Amino acid sequence: MSEIERLVSAQESGEEAAIDRAIRPRRLGEYVGQPGVRDQMEIFIGAARKRSEALDHVLIFGPPGLGKTTLAHIIANEMGGTLTVTSGPALEKGGDLIGILTHMEAGDVLFVDEIHRTPKTVEEFLYPAMEDFAVDFVFDKGVHARSHRYRLKRFTLVGATTRVGLLSAPLRDRFGLFRDLDFYEDVELVRIAKRSAALLDAHLTDEGALELSKRSRGTPRIVNRLLKRVRDYAQVRADGRITMTTVEQALALEGVDAVGLTNLDRRYLKTIIDYYHGGPVGIEAIAATLQEESDTLV
Ligand code: ADP
Repeated sequence: MSEIERLVSAQESGEEAAIDRAIRPRRLGEYVGQPGVRDQMEIFIGAARKRSEALDHVLIFGPPGLGKTTLAHIIANEMGGTLTVTSGPALEKGGDLIGILTHMEAGDVLFVDEIHRTPKTVEEFLYPAMEDFAVDFVFDKGVHARSHRYRLKRFTLVGATTRVGLLSAPLRDRFGLFRDLDFYEDVELVRIAKRSAALLDAHLTDEGALELSKRSRGTPRIVNRLLKRVRDYAQVRADGRITMTTVEQALALEGVDAVGLTNLDRRYLKTIIDYYHGGPVGIEAIAATLQEESDTLV
């Protein structure tokens, strides 16, 4: 991935993880926007705590960078439990999942990102774990096979997916709470940018924050990432203050335009409009014309 794609793609990269941890909201009160989600979580978390029960399993869906992982952190913090983070593709064998589940205490939260990519054999262990808080160990094979049921503590599973349609029906049915996340309004992104700037000790003006927000495609991860780039620019090329002009100059250098499109985005759109006369056109044809991998475009 080129620097520019990494910058505006909503995928997370390792090197920025430390800063991300510092600016990630920890409590529901710090979670900006998504009023429906906040209300729903406040009620269900409040009720579960009053009854001293674990929260029902939660499925969160929506495009990358909108706050699914953040919400899992918040649920664990608000419930006073410990969060364990994993992802569907990382759970290769049933044993991986059993190892995690048997170590969970009551009220702990297991976050499974990209849950739609969990292998089928592992998914089958999730069903009794979610429904009966139990896992079945099978010893030996064939006619000698014996199984032993192991009781689990009452944990909460938080599943996240960008492709809810790919979730199997039995898995989907075992969640009690469903939430889809929407893209954020500019005013909400302004609040996120200002909060992050304060935590990073950066001076961000109101106009600067608005300009950043307009270029962030409704996505908190992108607004935070652009903020970090513009902060670097402001420190080296300006007086450290992030104004509308610094944002414009810094992002011009990065090739991010006024609506947050990159060079590749513009080439992609121009190909559909000019070369294919507005489409319809398949992804492979566009990839061939642009000489890019179709995965990159997807
Ligand atoms: P996802 O899991 O949906 O890909 P994340 O939860 O990792 O997205 O969010 C990406 C970044 O955006 C986080 O580091 C967090 O700081 C920020 N963020 C996401 N949602 C919010 C929000 N509602 N309020 C403030 N910051 C947010």
